[in-house]
Amino acid sequence: MLDSIVHRDPGERILLGPGPSNVDPRVLRAMAAPVLGHLDPEFLEIMTETMELLRFVFQTRNQLTLPMSGTGSSGMETALVNMLEPGDDAVICIHGLFGERLADAAKRCGANVTVVSAPWGSPIDPDDVKKALSSHRAIKLLAVVHAETSTGVLQPLQEISSLAREYNTLLVVDTVTSLGGIPVKVDERGLDVVFSGTQKCLSCPPGLAPITLSERAVRVLRERKTKVQSWYLDLSMIQQYWGKERFYHHTAPINMIYALHEALLIIKEEGLEQRFDRHARNSAALTAGLEAMGLKMLVEQPQYRLPSLHSVVIPDGVADLDVRRRLLSEYSIEIGGGLGNLKGQIWRIGLMGTSSTKKHVIMLLSALENILVSLNAPVTRGQALKACEEAYSASLDL
Ligand SMILES: *Cc1c(COP(=O)(O)O)cnc(C)c1O
Repeated sequence: MLDSIVHRDPGERILLGPGPSNVDPRVLRAMAAPVLGHLDPEFLEIMTETMELLRFVFQTRNQLTLPMSGTGSSGMETALVNMLEPGDDAVICIHGLFGERLADAAKRCGANVTVVSAPWGSPIDPDDVKKALSSHRAIKLLAVVHAETSTGVLQPLQEISSLAREYNTLLVVDTVTSLGGIPVKVDERGLDVVFSGTQKCLSCPPGLAPITLSERAVRVLRERKTKVQSWYLDLSMIQQYWGKERFYHHTAPINMIYALHEALLIIKEEGLEQRFDRHARNSAALTAGLEAMGLKMLVEQPQYRLPSLHSVVIPDGVADLDVRRRLLSEYSIEIGGGLGNLKGQIWRIGLMGTSSTKKHVIMLLSALENILVSLNAPVTRGQALKACEEAYSASLDL
């Protein structure tokens, strides 16, 4: 085995799954720059600028805004281990796999977890959150997933955020599949701890987890009675490396931070509003095309559909894997399958960041139609591209 291993050059794919998304060559070039020491003055400037660029995409003025070393899940864990102490009461909203993960992680922090749930494919009902918050004396933390990548549901945050204020509860929000694709507006919505990942709508390789904490959350961190359960994810120490002190905590993944700096700069150059519009337009066109083919979206009401992740019901008699394998081998297109209860039931088509283009929408619709027709699946032929073009024309008139 060992003797036969040689250099590898992974090929190019069109990444239209639940992440990672395609990465702009500018970002890959930025990663190839020489490694600097983690306390080199030039690297410290790159860190400071990266924090400022993150405040821009999070739409926040929060001082404590930085990328954690680790994928999106490390952002989730950071939020929970820093806010929760053993015995604290937490309400966790579950309407998909990532909500389940939040609840698991909160329990591992020693919290007493109350779950508020909604069926996979629907958003959380704020009335259920209100019931959970009012039935206990003091709920310290409420957590919810903004963009549930396992189902394609966009969770409205306004009412939930008002409830968090009313009950004086910290609001933790998972924006892994929303940041950079739809507005997150941390300050305007009054969100306390918000985390994300780099490989979805930010279109940077996986490996960092941006996070931001409100002043309220920073106060909770400062006033903890016990040490943060995780040494590696302890923000009270990590902020001293990213802050003025520049105390060594762990060696920053230098080249990943170059990549994030460049990916965020690309977002600044495009403009947030323009970027959100692009995601919305391509999503509407893809959905119009899929529906014209006769396919059904899992999320019934359009206002709860994510523009970054589309969950499509697999037609009866069609084998999930056959289609995904052919998309990959014949067209180099990756899409995702269902998770948990939805395994084999849905496809998950991502249009995230750099991957969200008209070219990709048209390629995917054509390839999917060709494959489904050749499998004699119950689909309408020859309508998808027309519906897709009409959706683009309609969006230009807006
Ligand atoms: C992808 C994802 C995560 C986990 O991120 P990893 O980078 O895979 O660790 C968490 N939450 C949501 C909503 C996600 O889509």
